[in-house]
Amino acid sequence: MSDDSPTVRELDEATVERIAAGEVVTRPARAVAELVENALDAGAERVDVTVDGDGTDRIRVADDGHGMSRADAVSAVDPHTTSKIRAADDLRGATTLGFRGEALAAIADAGRLELVTNDGGAVGTRVTVADGEKIVDDAGRARGTTVVVTDLFGDRPARRESLASPAREFGRVSELVTAYALARPEVAFSLTHDGRETTSTPGTGTRDALVALYGRETGGESTAVTHRAGVDLAGREAALTVEGRLCYPSTTRATRDHVHVAVNGRPVRDDDLRRAVARGYGSLLPSGRDPVAVLRLDVPAWAVDPNVHPAKARVAIRGGDTVGDAVEAGVREALTTADLRRAGEVAM
Ligand code: ADP
Ligand code: MG
Repeated sequence: MSDDSPTVRELDEATVERIAAGEVVTRPARAVAELVENALDAGAERVDVTVDGDGTDRIRVADDGHGMSRADAVSAVDPHTTSKIRAADDLRGATTLGFRGEALAAIADAGRLELVTNDGGAVGTRVTVADGEKIVDDAGRARGTTVVVTDLFGDRPARRESLASPAREFGRVSELVTAYALARPEVAFSLTHDGRETTSTPGTGTRDALVALYGRETGGESTAVTHRAGVDLAGREAALTVEGRLCYPSTTRATRDHVHVAVNGRPVRDDDLRRAVARGYGSLLPSGRDPVAVLRLDVPAWAVDPNVHPAKARVAIRGGDTVGDAVEAGVREALTTADLRRAGEVAM
């Protein structure tokens, strides 16, 4: 057993109540998000996602993270089991993407789940959950974890009917993989749909990820942001880091969807922060247009509550306006420097 694979425990009832977050798996993209987050929490350097059809047929997420011991793999698929927090007090300040301990159980409940994992030992473990029954046996696998979900919502016709077209459902999966790939540019991601690879990032930094996702013209024409500030977040001193890349305003988009913001490694859909990025571009943006940009914010964990949204798509940040101001300042500073450099090139 490797030392860095943490132990999975059952949470007590009070903690479970505090984090009760509604239904976890409402559509295939939600299952993919939970599995990708687990892979990232396991320290993966590669995450490979495969989806068939709209995702209800088959989802597969493979990682090269720390894996699980057999005992942990067997309990991880039970409700409210997690290695990430022990009590409700750990919630604020949780530095992992997951902490509710319910994703694997919820997925196993909504479909058929097969988990193959190895934490570095000679032999790995396969846990299969179908119709509430667990089957455990040996499996060959390098260190890491692969989860395969088939027949999602097979016995939930209402849930299946609420899904959009396969193209739309896959579109959500694709957006989500893009969001994680830009929030974690040091991790290599791939997404394969019906046997065809649609997305892949090399795991070698933001610029390469942007080029892989948006093409050389848009992604390559970009400048780095690195901005550090000491700020007052609702009465408490905090060190804030804003970093990422800004595509030049020669390419813009009609929607804000291409302003990718992550807070402490978690992609968020936060319109306030997206607006702050646009404010930083200021008059460089044609009116009604938004930039293509990647911004990663690091905020002290005490200032962030990730437990305000069932899908964790939004987080609450203490002193959010101050954070927005820092983002705006960081963006403006980076673009000003970039303009000077480009003007210098012309002059030489
Ligand atoms: P949570 O992520 O909130 O803890 P999950 O149900 O998603 O709950 O996972 C339960 C536990 O299973 C995790 O806490 C973790 O210990 C383990 N686990 C799940 N997926 C992986 C993975 N890909 N690699 C290693 N461990 C995993
Ligand atoms: Mg999880």
